[in-house]
Amino acid sequence: MHAEIIAVGTELLAPNKLDTNSLYLARRLSERGILLVRKSIVGDDRELLADEIRRSRDASEVVILTGGLGPTLDDLTREAASDATGRVLNLSQAIVKEIEERFRKFNRPMAEVNKRQAYVLEGAEILHNPRGTAPGQWLEDKHGILILLPGPPRELEPMFEVACLPLLDRNAPPFRFHTLTLRVAGIGESDVDQRISAIYSAETRVATTILSAPGDIQIHLRAQADDQDEARLIATALGSAIREELGEAVYSTDGRSLDLTVASLLRARGIKLAVAESFTGGLLSTRLTDASGSSEFFAGGIVSYGDAAKRDWLGIDGELLGRSGAVSSEAAAAMAEAARHRAAEVLGDSAIGVSTTGFAGPTGGNQQDPVGTAYFGIADDAGTRVHRRQMGGGRRRVRVLGVQTALDLLRRRVLRLPGS
Ligand code: AMP
Ligand code: MG
Repeated sequence: MHAEIIAVGTELLAPNKLDTNSLYLARRLSERGILLVRKSIVGDDRELLADEIRRSRDASEVVILTGGLGPTLDDLTREAASDATGRVLNLSQAIVKEIEERFRKFNRPMAEVNKRQAYVLEGAEILHNPRGTAPGQWLEDKHGILILLPGPPRELEPMFEVACLPLLDRNAPPFRFHTLTLRVAGIGESDVDQRISAIYSAETRVATTILSAPGDIQIHLRAQADDQDEARLIATALGSAIREELGEAVYSTDGRSLDLTVASLLRARGIKLAVAESFTGGLLSTRLTDASGSSEFFAGGIVSYGDAAKRDWLGIDGELLGRSGAVSSEAAAAMAEAARHRAAEVLGDSAIGVSTTGFAGPTGGNQQDPVGTAYFGIADDAGTRVHRRQMGGGRRRVRVLGVQTALDLLRRRVLRLPGS
């Protein structure tokens, strides 16, 4: 079953107002297995809106409108729905009474204009609104289902849950869904897609979407089948095939984030770590301490941002910094070793030291190491290893990607993966 959402309101076209109702509805529809194929936003214009309703109803079985059901004259959803369906609007005395009662309850006089909310499309069912005056409407005819919902989220959400979901279930397809999320670090989005597109394209029972954030790619697999177990089996089989192709670049198969994956890995192995950060400015420590209980593996971190801090707080040789520069393989190694040394003093030899040093930009850098270059050091009982990465996309992205890279290098080192 295909659905479309039309968000109504001129305010939604302004630069500072988001259409959040359609995000909520998208989630609810997806849980139901109803495929959302289009969303649109239309201002308070009766003709444009009627056109959009006609077009959507021609294309999709379910059309949901949100907003434009208020009492004021700019709210035109009812009139536009009447134009588009050719159905008249009838005044419902029952709704008038309800609205009057609501005003009485709050001890306010009711303006005549509020009666506009009591007009119902011929043949539509009324959806009760416990949180406001504007009732919703549900119309089912040979063109499909047309649902009118109020704009305020606190009115729309309970109405959709209580009144619409049971009605939708009556019409919903007998399909069941299972969603699996694989998360990938250390390879770019286009590389991922190139390697797996043939695998997922061959499985037509699964809708595959790839979402990309700096250093973090999510592969969502949504399998559809007649029953739940079969959907789960289909998704799991495709997940395994993709995993086989991407290998250890897949860091989680249950949707878990990289910091939580690293945390449980360190916890399971009883490994503790300390960090020395430069260009990530404490963001790595922040990610490592996001979850409660991080003290089990995180000893502490130093934000040694300037050269003096690297020298005085970490004890790094000033001559080394002068010779190689603070953004260098040598500095990254010395920083990781200093962090490990500090941690090992209290925690013992199993401690790991991690460091980040780089040019986040937009100023800085040099011919050899331009803006976006970073070095990551990892020191443990097997020695010290430094990785150089070249990143792009501005200061903010470089720092976020830097943290993600450090976490992934740490994961690979703990797992003793090749090249780590
Ligand atoms: P209306 O039903 O058009 O009178 O909408 C009333 C209020 O609901 C608006 O002023 C908005 O604050 C809010 N609203 C309407 N549509 C949306 C939407 N799509 N997403 C979030 N809020 C909305
Ligand atoms: Mg409005």
